[in-house]
Amino acid sequence: MERVLRFIRQLPIKWKLMLGATTLIFLLFATYNFAQYLVLKQWMMNQERDKIQVSMAQLQDYFQEKYKTDDAFQIAESRAYIEKMMGKNQFVRIIGKEGEPLLTVSNHFNENWVTPKPVIVPELFDTTPNEDHVLIYRSPIQTAKFVGTIELASNLETFDHFSTTLLWVMLIGGVLAIFISALSGLALARQFMHPIRALTSAIRSVKEKGLTERVSNIQNGDELSSLAQLFNGLMNQLEISFRQQKQFVEDASHELRTPITIMEGHLSLLNRWGKSNPEVLEESLQASLQEIRRMKGLVQELLTLTRVESQLLTENHNPISPVPLILETLERFKVLHAEFEFQANTEKMEDVLISISPLHLEQILLIVLDNAVKYSTNDKRIAVEGERLKNDVQITVRDYGIGIPQADLPYVFDRFYRVDKARNSEIAGTGLGLSIAKQFVSNYQGEMTIHSEENKGTTVSIKLPVSQSVQ
Ligand code: ADP
Repeated sequence: MERVLRFIRQLPIKWKLMLGATTLIFLLFATYNFAQYLVLKQWMMNQERDKIQVSMAQLQDYFQEKYKTDDAFQIAESRAYIEKMMGKNQFVRIIGKEGEPLLTVSNHFNENWVTPKPVIVPELFDTTPNEDHVLIYRSPIQTAKFVGTIELASNLETFDHFSTTLLWVMLIGGVLAIFISALSGLALARQFMHPIRALTSAIRSVKEKGLTERVSNIQNGDELSSLAQLFNGLMNQLEISFRQQKQFVEDASHELRTPITIMEGHLSLLNRWGKSNPEVLEESLQASLQEIRRMKGLVQELLTLTRVESQLLTENHNPISPVPLILETLERFKVLHAEFEFQANTEKMEDVLISISPLHLEQILLIVLDNAVKYSTNDKRIAVEGERLKNDVQITVRDYGIGIPQADLPYVFDRFYRVDKARNSEIAGTGLGLSIAKQFVSNYQGEMTIHSEENKGTTVSIKLPVSQSVQ
């Protein structure tokens, strides 16, 4: 038993399904058929009993009547009547008080099967003398002139034949049903397994050929095809993030290559001339230090970007009011850039709370304000405005600096994108600031947009969902 169970457990799902379906159908069919067979057999037997009882009642009536109306009536005279009323395979015998046979009439019936036996109370039973099956009914008869027993019997051969045929029909039907259910179970299991097989082969090809493989032929809308769709969706995401990752590594190495090349140039200069020439020494050291600082900044920003992207930093935060934080950050900028005029207009969002880490909001503001300062020229005004929209709060930072050409605007949020490298050559930057800020904002289900006009100025808008208002 244990071995059979282990064998079944190791079978492929297709065979398990087929086996399960077939066993179930067999059990149902067998139980139903057997019950039907028993009921039918019982019903037929009852019919036979009813028939023999009716015949007995007829005979009883006949004899009572004859003895009453005909004083000279002899048992033997009833032969013609009995022969007429008797059916095929039947037998009638009238016996006297002591069991002596007085009249025997049989039709295709061996009279030896029934032994003469007088009775006082009626008896009805079936018996099997010599492998034949007979139904016997004995009933006493009592009139003023005669006391004896009527014996009536029926051969149940036809009945037996019929029930055996019925049993065979049911057995053959059962075997056919098992066969058909096994075949249809197998076909169903095949159909059912099709998407699983497709999924398995797709996963295998992904393993062998790479991330571009997908499950094809997703037709019906059942759970398995949703699983296949889910798998395809997952593979799409993986492919995108894999490509992004690759792009990121390429961009980062490209960006790091520039300072490293510059440093390499300065170090070989130092190696050749710098040892004896203090001027070259000083200049090359300063230049290398600047490049190292640039690289340090770049690496730091890259780290921040990967952390923001992996969403490690955005758990649920207590709602905060953004106004004090904006004002504080502006104060810090005022100290650092005394030549600038910072204007804050935050009354319209005084009563608003947003769920964001104060550190992250500060980082976003620092990036945008730093850009505003970096890319301003003569007009040194910078305006920060807060506004409550329907479900969001909008923080706008406006400067009146060099602006961004329309052609570059769609790309400023891309990593490492800097408008016109020549224009930016004196302004320090990595091209990562805006992409970090945007990633922070979208992590909090917010939105960041930029409007700009060359030589007129730039407006950066940060929209964040409102958590609740203090009314
Ligand atoms: P960076 O470190 O170069 O400032 P950012 O991602 O912050 O990188 O910005 C990308 C580019 O967008 C910048 O190089 C600059 O050319 C342009 N930019 C961003 N903010 C402004 C602004 N306020 N005014 C003009 N140009 C801007």
